[in-house]
Amino acid sequence: MDENKDASLLVIVLDTNPSQRIIREKPHNLTQCLDSIVAFANAHLMQKAQNKLAVLACHHHATQFLYPTPGKPLDIRQVDGQYEVFTLVEKTIKQKLAHMINTAPPLTTPTESLLAGSMSMALCYIARINRNKAPGSKINSRVLVVTGSNECASQYMTYMNVFFTAQKQGVVVDVCALDKALSLLQQGCDITGGQYLRLEQLEGFLQYLLWVFLPDPQMRCKLVLPPPVKVDYRAACFCHRELIDIGYVCSVCLSIFCKFSPICTTCHTVFKAPAPIAAKPKKKKLKA
Ligand SMILES: [Zn+2]
Ligand SMILES: [Zn+2]
Repeated sequence: MDENKDASLLVIVLDTNPSQRIIREKPHNLTQCLDSIVAFANAHLMQKAQNKLAVLACHHHATQFLYPTPGKPLDIRQVDGQYEVFTLVEKTIKQKLAHMINTAPPLTTPTESLLAGSMSMALCYIARINRNKAPGSKINSRVLVVTGSNECASQYMTYMNVFFTAQKQGVVVDVCALDKALSLLQQGCDITGGQYLRLEQLEGFLQYLLWVFLPDPQMRCKLVLPPPVKVDYRAACFCHRELIDIGYVCSVCLSIFCKFSPICTTCHTVFKAPAPIAAKPKKKKLKA
């Protein structure tokens, strides 16, 4: 019975960067995505009166909260037959996103989305909500990332910090990839116990959201969901930010490099150049 009292906080991080292939090729896709996200967000709020929602937009120049907004909420005229909160969510999200897109600096070259930063903001928001919650109450929090961007290995460190912070705070990270497979975000889902889903087309986007991401993580083990995919656990080297299979690891700070370097660029530890393998046992023998 106690479980029924728990509120659930859903933070949606929506990638709205115009550099994404799906938006570049067909700008209308963003509208379709947004409509599905709003319907999905309202479905989450509908499940339980205590449920909470936050929506962040990750644009090419900044990340902003689309909902809730700081300050006074919008004045909403009641629509007959619709729960006021649903109207408020839809109007606020659309108005804020339109404002964000209209005031964004023009995009000259395609830029990568700073998703890792947006996810950090989501975690900060969750931490704040948890700090201010009523004593004795419990909030189950999760983050859903919806993106059509490519893999950004340049944000490797931030991603890893986000994933392990989320894991420590018991926040589940779900990812819905709309274009390419994203191995780093997939690692995040695996680390935090979330769902990773890659859609090859936008048709049925809302149906997929409702099927895979609406149920609470505690409920998911009882449902038939897409089978888990094999996680690509490659790390990105700190020197070139590229995913590598085999590399050198600093024994002091665990930084990863694709080539041997005598000084670790992260912690400045000096290493001896690797000696020829045959020479080592000889030295040991002499000492003994
Ligand atoms: Zn490298
Ligand atoms: Zn080091």
